[in-house]
Amino acid sequence: MTYLLPIGGEWLQTETTDTIRLPYDDSPIAEVPQGNPALVDRAVSAARAAAAILENWTNYQRAELLDRIAALLRRDRTGFANAVSSETGKPITEARAEVDRGLQTLLASSIAARELHGEVVPIDAAPTGAGRLAMTIRQPLGVIGIITPFNFPLNLTLHKLGPALAGGNAVVHKPSEQTPLSALMLARIVQEAGAPAGAYNVVTGPGETVGSALVESPGVDMITFTGSVPVGRAIRARAGLKKVTLELGGNGAVIIEPDADLDAAVPRVVQGGYGYSGQSCISVQRVYVHESIAANFRDRLVAAVEKLNVGHPAEETSQIASLITVQAAERVEQWTRQAAQAGAKILTGGDRTRATIRPGILTEVPEDSRFMREELFGPLVAVNAYRDLDRAIELVNGTSYGLQAGIYTQHLQRAFQAAQKIRAGGVLINDVPTFRADLMPYGGTKESGLGREGPRYAVQEMTEPKLICWHA
Ligand code: NAP
Repeated sequence: MTYLLPIGGEWLQTETTDTIRLPYDDSPIAEVPQGNPALVDRAVSAARAAAAILENWTNYQRAELLDRIAALLRRDRTGFANAVSSETGKPITEARAEVDRGLQTLLASSIAARELHGEVVPIDAAPTGAGRLAMTIRQPLGVIGIITPFNFPLNLTLHKLGPALAGGNAVVHKPSEQTPLSALMLARIVQEAGAPAGAYNVVTGPGETVGSALVESPGVDMITFTGSVPVGRAIRARAGLKKVTLELGGNGAVIIEPDADLDAAVPRVVQGGYGYSGQSCISVQRVYVHESIAANFRDRLVAAVEKLNVGHPAEETSQIASLITVQAAERVEQWTRQAAQAGAKILTGGDRTRATIRPGILTEVPEDSRFMREELFGPLVAVNAYRDLDRAIELVNGTSYGLQAGIYTQHLQRAFQAAQKIRAGGVLINDVPTFRADLMPYGGTKESGLGREGPRYAVQEMTEPKLICWHA
């Protein structure tokens, strides 16, 4: 397939191209055009023109557009899944699951468009309000700049594009340099679905130049970013008065109480800790298990993790493939070694072959190690024992992140005690932090971010209320 840059309804070639490689074995899979700041300017102008059209579309028209995009994504499911698997290196079964989640995100965006409304303001409750009627309507912001990471290149894009279109905005998108293929394919179906030219523009290229140009562009009204904390911090510092939402990292924790149903918990910890080799912002990274059941839990987890199939991402049987780069795998290996040197015990796995890390489990991991405090983004999980639930909650809260956390218990009061005390954007009772349904409100506290996604919530971020007040 030839990839071209979709800007203003045209498909552009660029002077330079970039080779996209399969992270698993570094084999070349595609040549993509490489954008630059001048193309960002061109894309922003095209988006402004499209925004002027889209703001006059009714909620019904925007919802129908999103439904048509969903129908085309369903038609092209196989092609999208292959592209996502190749660019990310995730197993094909997980890539298919990402496309299916993308469909849910589009469906939720279409519903969000149909339900978008303002409210009646009880203006005569104010002493000066007599004789007046007031209401708000929701209006689009205009042009939304979206910047996405490598790990869920299709669904995370749809989490921004869907609500942006639902709210009547146009978009300029800077995907991750490593994973631009699904975005370039998505632009084809957005056009085929009948979006105005320039409604969805993609500019590939490095974050340092192309991303920065988008963040600083005076023609952009809002930046919605998903990625790491350092880049999120830099974006917020440079965005000026633009609205900014940030979906950042995490180091997901789950508490396993003595009465937990381990038959349910162990497979979910495996799914949450090792899915896409742990490269999800809500992966299970830290398990705090009550000391009375710790040995039993560890034995069961080791047995389950040692059964995971490691292999080429295109193989139907592969459950673990590679990390995104060799450097990322080297970093995970280094943090694991450092934790072991500081006293952690490696129960299984952790060794590296090129960009692939064999799924691993550590225990007795020092709480002040990078393995526990930072975001690992690899297929290893720490299992530490605790005696007292309050102490476990303190440990969950003891890092700078706060995206989602989980607790397994049959005890309602303890479950809600944890839910109230844990500082995170979401607490999952009898589940791992990795659970996400695409319609739910999703986002972080502390350094995990600002703002909420989930189309119904994101569309509020991407529109603003306008007051209309009538004086009789
Ligand atoms: P990243 O390094 O922060 O990159 C994210 C995006 O920002 C990429 O498109 C990158 O471009 C771009 N970028 C880099 N520097 C920039 C700059 N100075 N100005 C503007 N844009 C810039 O993140 P990643 O490694 O791709 O993804 C992993 C991170 O994303 C993890 O921390 C993970 O937790 C987080 N994440 C969060 C969520 C959530 O919903 N909270 C979901 C998924 C992932 P390049 O192509 O040049 O790198």
